[in-house]
Amino acid sequence: MKVVVLGGGESGKGAALLAKKAGFECFLSDKGFIKQEYKDVLDQYLIKYEEGGHTPELLMDADLVVKSPGIPNESEVVTAFLTKGTKVISEIEFGFLHCHSTILAVTGSNGKTTTSALLHHVLKSAGKDVEIAGNYGYSFAGLVAERNPEYIVLEISSFQLDDIETFRPHVSTILNITPDHLDRYEYKMEKYVASKFRITRNQTKDDFFVYNADDKEILDYLDTAEIAPQLVAIEEANYLNGVQRVDGKSFQYKLKGRHNRYNIQTVVTMSRLIGLTDDEIALGLETFESLAHRLEYITTINGVEYINDSKATNVDSVFYALDAMEGKVVWIAGGIDKGNDYEVLLPLVKEKVKTLICLGIDNDKLIRFFKGTTPTIVETTKVSNAVFMAGESARTGETVLLSPACASFDLFKNYMDRGEQFKAAVLDLKNKIE
Ligand code: ADP
Repeated sequence: MKVVVLGGGESGKGAALLAKKAGFECFLSDKGFIKQEYKDVLDQYLIKYEEGGHTPELLMDADLVVKSPGIPNESEVVTAFLTKGTKVISEIEFGFLHCHSTILAVTGSNGKTTTSALLHHVLKSAGKDVEIAGNYGYSFAGLVAERNPEYIVLEISSFQLDDIETFRPHVSTILNITPDHLDRYEYKMEKYVASKFRITRNQTKDDFFVYNADDKEILDYLDTAEIAPQLVAIEEANYLNGVQRVDGKSFQYKLKGRHNRYNIQTVVTMSRLIGLTDDEIALGLETFESLAHRLEYITTINGVEYINDSKATNVDSVFYALDAMEGKVVWIAGGIDKGNDYEVLLPLVKEKVKTLICLGIDNDKLIRFFKGTTPTIVETTKVSNAVFMAGESARTGETVLLSPACASFDLFKNYMDRGEQFKAAVLDLKNKIE
C-alpha cells in the first residue's frame, strides 16, 4: 500500500512517520518548501519527498492520501485524487486510525492552548501516562507513530476537524464559539459552528461532551441538533467566584481572569470524568504557571505591572484580558485588523483604559473608534517607543497590557515575535530605571 502525504509541515512530517512506522510505502509532496529540520527527519527515516510542486507521476498511484490541514479540498492536487477516486483523509483521521489511547479533545475559538496545557499538566502531575499533541505543536500522527500513551490531550482547530471521518474522542469540549477564521467558512457562522461540533460527531453514549452553557452559539446548536455523547454543562454560576472542590472548598491556582476560571472549571470537569480525585486535580492546578503570551506577567517597574497578552489576536480575548485587570490600564493594541467590531469593549475601555497606545502601521480604525472614550491615544510603529510611552503614562498600582486584538504580521514575524520584543523592551526599561 502506498500512502502519499500532502504537505511537509509538522502534520505532514508526523503523518509520513506514522505511515512508515505502519509499514506502508510513503511519499511526501509539498508545493512550497520544506524546512530543513523536517527534511532531516524524513531523510533519517528514509522517507522520499519532493518540494516546490506536485509531480503527478510520483503521486497518482497512491492508495491513500493524507492531507495536512492547511491544504483546502478544492486545491488542484486534492481534486485530482478525488476525481480519480483515491481516498483522501486528514492527518488527524490518519492518526486516529492507528491510535489506542484515550483521547481528550479540546476545541473552541479561544483558550484551546491554555486549557489543553493545563489539562495535560493536571494529568501528568497526577501520575498519569499522558501526552499532548495537535494544534499545540507536536502533531497527533507524529505522536502516535512514537507511542500510544494511556491518554492524549489533543488541541484541535476547526480546520483539523473539517476532514475527520471516524475520529472519536472519549471526552470532548468546545470552550466557546466566537467569530474567527470566517474566511474559511464562506463567511457563514453556521458553517463555522458546525465545523466545531464535528468534534462530537462519532462520540457515543459512552463518551462525554463538556460544553459552555453560557455560549449562545453552542446552545443554539444543541437546540437544533441531537448529539450522542453524555452532555456535561458548565455554567458561569459554577466558577464565577472561583472553582470549587466537591467538599465545598476552593481550588487554588495562579491563572488570572474570568476566562481562566472557565478554562479551569473545564479542566476540573474533564479530569473528574476520567476518574481523578479533587486532591489529584488540586496539585496540578496549584503548580501550573501561565503560558507565554497569554496574560503573561513580565515584571513590575515602579509599582506598575507589565503583562504580555500578545496571543490576543481577536476582540473576545481582549475583552477577557481587560476584564481581568484591576485598576487603570495602559493598553497597547493594534496590528492587522481581521474585521474587528470593537463595540463590546467600550464599557471596559471606558472604565479602565487611561491611555491607548496603537502599535501598528495602520491605526485609523482603532483611533476612530476609541477617540472620545479614551483620554489619551498615541501611536507608534516601534515596540521600544510603545513601552517607553507606557512607562511614562502608568502610575503605581496600574497595569501596562499588550493585548492587541489584531494579527501581528504588519510589524512582526508572528505573535510570539511581538510578545518577545515586548518583553525585551520592558526588561530593557527596567534595567535603565533600576
Ligand atoms: P487558542 O489556542 O484557542 O488561540 P490560547 O489559550 O492561546 O487560545 O489563548 C488565546 C487568547 O485568548 C489569549 O489572549 C488568552 O488570554 C485568551 N483566552 C484564553 N482562554 C479564553 C477563554 N476561555 N475565553 C476567551 N478568551 C480566552
